[in-house]
Amino acid sequence: MNAPQNGTKTSRPSEAPVNKSQESTVLDRYEPVIGLEVHCQLKTKTKLFCGCSTSFGAMPNHNTCPICLGHPGVLPVLNREVVNFAIRFALAVEANIHEISVFARKQYFYPDLPKGYQITQFDLPYCTGGKMILASGKAVRLMRAHIEEDAGKNVHGDESSYVDLNRAGVPLIEIVSEADIRNPEDAADYLKRLRSLVRSLDICDGNLEEGSFRCDANISIRPRGQEKFGTRCEIKNLNSFRNIERAIKYEILRQADLLDHGEKVLQQTMLFDAASGKTQAMRSKEESHDYRYFPEPDLLPLRIDAARIEEQRKALPELPEAMARRFQEQHALSAYDAAVLTSDKDLANFYEAVVKRVDGAVTEKIVANWVTSEYLREANNRSWDFINPPITSDHLGELIELIGKGVISGRIAKTLFEEMAEKGPGNGPKAMVQEQGLVQVSDTSEIRGVINNVLDANPGQLAEYLGGRDKLFGFFVGQTMKVSGGKMNPQLVNDVLKELLDARRKG
Ligand SMILES: [Zn+2]
Repeated sequence: MNAPQNGTKTSRPSEAPVNKSQESTVLDRYEPVIGLEVHCQLKTKTKLFCGCSTSFGAMPNHNTCPICLGHPGVLPVLNREVVNFAIRFALAVEANIHEISVFARKQYFYPDLPKGYQITQFDLPYCTGGKMILASGKAVRLMRAHIEEDAGKNVHGDESSYVDLNRAGVPLIEIVSEADIRNPEDAADYLKRLRSLVRSLDICDGNLEEGSFRCDANISIRPRGQEKFGTRCEIKNLNSFRNIERAIKYEILRQADLLDHGEKVLQQTMLFDAASGKTQAMRSKEESHDYRYFPEPDLLPLRIDAARIEEQRKALPELPEAMARRFQEQHALSAYDAAVLTSDKDLANFYEAVVKRVDGAVTEKIVANWVTSEYLREANNRSWDFINPPITSDHLGELIELIGKGVISGRIAKTLFEEMAEKGPGNGPKAMVQEQGLVQVSDTSEIRGVINNVLDANPGQLAEYLGGRDKLFGFFVGQTMKVSGGKMNPQLVNDVLKELLDARRKG
């Protein structure tokens, strides 16, 4: 059915895009094997080997000096804080930290690399091993993590290309997983957890758009039951979790299509095009000997002693998994709620601040519901950050407290929340309730009057209800709430309505 449409053996860019049933039959026959490499930009104030600032968004080539510009005769000096951050990462994933590691020169020519080589760790990285546990409970082993410097950036204009070296020499750790991942969903989960971890450790801001958390994926497929790995392709620079999943899915289908037609997968570096949803061959994959690595002669081997490791162990914050366990116990939350709330340390702090503000007026579960549904939805839609969000923990707490004390109904609270999100919280929900006259009606005689009017205005439905159609109870509740503009206490409306309808049935 899928006749090859062109003669190239390397890629099939003209093939139809991915569809679901195609994907499931491919996955029945082939097993994907996925390994991920993540470049994490460490948020130290200065670069890896010089005193230049690492701040993002400065004027092009502003954060540079003779060292990161690669002038001849200059000498690199290792940034102590980078090593501390790297140690903290290794401790958090339970990797083996090596007492001696060595920096090497990785040679390649590219305009954004003025020295003509990158300083990185090659055969003796500072740590090996370690693991990440996924939502499914599966462990992904880590092969290694090493310290290296970033390259600059080429900026391509209409007629000319420019080089910006602000990023040249910014510190990274590259985290390499074993090829333990078997589907695109687990790949995305691994990356989300890794991002959450480095953010908790406060060593990387995890910003995919600004490139401080970058991922390359190695993908091969093999017929189910076969032990030998297939030929892998590497997809470069995937800049969102969604694109990572899309790219991996597309690449699996592309490789399966080649194998189904008796063709070979070539070892290549691919680029993912988010607009078309396809991967395209960029170049044939380099081997490590292409880079002619040799030990960096201007730097001593890096020595990390036990005392230093202990010092960093003491500086470790509460990590996401431990925090999720604590949330389940301390706040009586489900595993799901705890996982969502602790997926980001700033979100977790926000939740705990709201709980503190509410101070027992409602359960911690109700606060969790508000934060994981209404709040998170608006925060995502409007790109709020959780450190300085437009709706503060104080205001959200005040709003939830108003429901807990019966001052406003849940429905009014949702409307108010949307208004706060849209226009800004102003003087806070309490003041808004006063100004707009939204205080919940809990006066039963007033409620009784409105319900009697509703019953009289709908004689048809009333007759049906009295004749046995109990379902219409909800209709009368809805009408009453509508007439009162959602301001009546819903529990009282239910109680009074039941009483009045029972009375009419009897009499
Ligand atoms: Zn510099």
